[in-house]
Amino acid sequence: MVCLSISMAKCNPPVKKKNPKNIILMIGDGMGLAQLCAGYALNKKQLNIFELAQIIGLCNTSSADNFITDSAAGATAMSTGYKTNNGMISFLPDSSSPRTIFEFAKSNQMKTGLVVSCALTHATPACFYSHRYNRELHTDIAADFYNGTVDIAAGGGFPVFDTAKLRSLGYQVTIGKTTTPTSSKYVSFYDTSFHPAQISEGRGSFLTNNTMLSLDKLTNDKGFMLMVEGSQIDWGGHNNDGDYVVKEMLDFDSCVKHVLDWAKKDGETLVIITADHETGGLGLMGSDASSTKPKLLFHNTHHSGIMVPVFAFGPGEEKFQGVYENIDIFYKMKNLLNFK
Ligand code: MG
Ligand code: ZN
Repeated sequence: MVCLSISMAKCNPPVKKKNPKNIILMIGDGMGLAQLCAGYALNKKQLNIFELAQIIGLCNTSSADNFITDSAAGATAMSTGYKTNNGMISFLPDSSSPRTIFEFAKSNQMKTGLVVSCALTHATPACFYSHRYNRELHTDIAADFYNGTVDIAAGGGFPVFDTAKLRSLGYQVTIGKTTTPTSSKYVSFYDTSFHPAQISEGRGSFLTNNTMLSLDKLTNDKGFMLMVEGSQIDWGGHNNDGDYVVKEMLDFDSCVKHVLDWAKKDGETLVIITADHETGGLGLMGSDASSTKPKLLFHNTHHSGIMVPVFAFGPGEEKFQGVYENIDIFYKMKNLLNFK
């Protein structure tokens, strides 16, 4: 076919960018650039996040009432598109409850899942299904879970959940490693304690195994949204324990690798990897006696206000370049999924 210049547009129509069918939001709680760089340096300069997700942005994390956010306001921003006060769970200072991205997903017939290494009622996961003025209201947050916003959940929190109630709502409930969920609607508790163990205490591949199982169960014609949290990177930061930070960071990074390999094969899934904030004001200050490994120094035991990186992979990844606010992550996801 001869293509005259006047009809070039017809011969080479602009490639329409594909929208994702599924979104996986992976949050490393307290995972700033220093935490990522510490993991990279102490893992023989190898980090899956750096290698596999090459679209990078920067995100400002401040909350409505403080330059330094907490995890509740940070997750509310990403889940609802609203900045709120520290401590609030998808709940605003004017006492209104903005819809969460999971609630949008459910009303669009999509499936939803949460896989975390903390209690399922802890601030970050809670902001996807609950609306409460105070993050400490764990029993009330668990009660919001019974509204059915979440199809699949894996993490801790067993003591604050009513397992008979969960079963009556159609959830398969499993506890510990002895049983693997077989249903496509389930709650899988790490054990009967509130929070799952640390990696150094033997948590093993709980995060990765449950994330991959959830992908298998969530895949369906209408699409899904999954939030995966490396919850304890933050706790290592609060403890000023560099070893704790790095072990939890590398566990999260390993989970990212499995997810990105899966997403690459799938081709219809956008994966976003970010943090709610940095924790500890971590600095890589000098090196150890070998002069090759960084010395990790913390400024304090709280969160810091430095921007956090955002990595994206898959259809719609280009939207995540640039410098923006944490609430923009919500709007980018909402627009890509055509939620009205
Ligand atoms: Mg968290
Ligand atoms: Zn924290």
